[in-house]
Amino acid sequence: MRDYYFPNTEPLAADEMRVIALGTGRPFVRRAQANCSWLIELGNGDKFVFDFGCGSQTNFTALEIPHQDITAYFATHLHADHVGDFGQVWVGSWAGGRTKPLVVYGPSGPEKRFGTEHFVRHQMESFAWDTHTRLGLLPDAGAEVEVHEFDFTKTGPVYERNGVVIKSFPAVHIYDGPVSLRLEWNGLSFVFSGDTTPSRFFIDNAKNADLVIHECFNTVSQLMQRSGYDERTARGIGTMAHSSPEEMGQVLQQVQPRLGVAYHFFNDFDTGLEVEREIRKHYSGPLALAQDLMVFNVTPAAIHTRLAVTPTHVWPNKEHHDKFRVASRKPRPVMSRWLADTQLFPKF
Ligand SMILES: [Zn+2]
Ligand SMILES: [Zn+2]
Repeated sequence: MRDYYFPNTEPLAADEMRVIALGTGRPFVRRAQANCSWLIELGNGDKFVFDFGCGSQTNFTALEIPHQDITAYFATHLHADHVGDFGQVWVGSWAGGRTKPLVVYGPSGPEKRFGTEHFVRHQMESFAWDTHTRLGLLPDAGAEVEVHEFDFTKTGPVYERNGVVIKSFPAVHIYDGPVSLRLEWNGLSFVFSGDTTPSRFFIDNAKNADLVIHECFNTVSQLMQRSGYDERTARGIGTMAHSSPEEMGQVLQQVQPRLGVAYHFFNDFDTGLEVEREIRKHYSGPLALAQDLMVFNVTPAAIHTRLAVTPTHVWPNKEHHDKFRVASRKPRPVMSRWLADTQLFPKF
């Protein structure tokens, strides 16, 4: 337990925050790294998920946390590598035991169709057959989603409850709409960039935070050599849409966190060293290069970084399944007679 984190064996202390990487890679999903997602667990019992990119729910379920225990999901912006697991977050958690509405917070956009409300409602609508066929079998409330869309242009609290304050501030990423998030609780602070190029907003809002997670992409030369991009494309993706590792180092140098974490690049044995060298040109403070299922325990006294050891053949945690049994259900949809009559072992 000194070197590894075994889920469900370490209750959080009342003054402790635990942050777990559920996805740290690039928009291309691979087994080593899912798309972007972070879990934040607090000593008061609250649990938040910041971004839910494609594949990241596989890492969440590996932790065997009851879906019912997630207080709210937050989106920093609506790129698929940050919200692409919505189907799992919504339907997977419903089938996995959630008996209350899903709670989703996210930014507005420059037009209504670019906002979180539009994204969620249209995802739900596209799953009409899915929802229709599960109602009757699963609790009604699990199908519902509470969407809280907030103004992406504003800097300030978008969530205040139970001693937790989550602030949003604009991120500079390709187009209007993206935000970064700062969570404050019990004197501890956690700042998550989502996707952003270095900006004044981030320096001002992340200064002296305990744990600061800032994106950076692979270096331009790695993008050219390993991803096969021409130089113009590599520079566009690696330095205009995202922060380069060197720029990210300058951000951390100005912010001076207790621990700085770099994520959103392919962290391999032969790429991580160059990424670290670039960051270290400017920043000499505490640093971690994120991997999936990296765990950070944060207290006023120390920040402890480990990797989680997780099972692969997990089943949903049954902790709240008593509620599941008694929750109300709608009538099931009725199948056409010509189809039902072909059953070898008729059930209806
Ligand atoms: Zn993005
Ligand atoms: Zn991204």
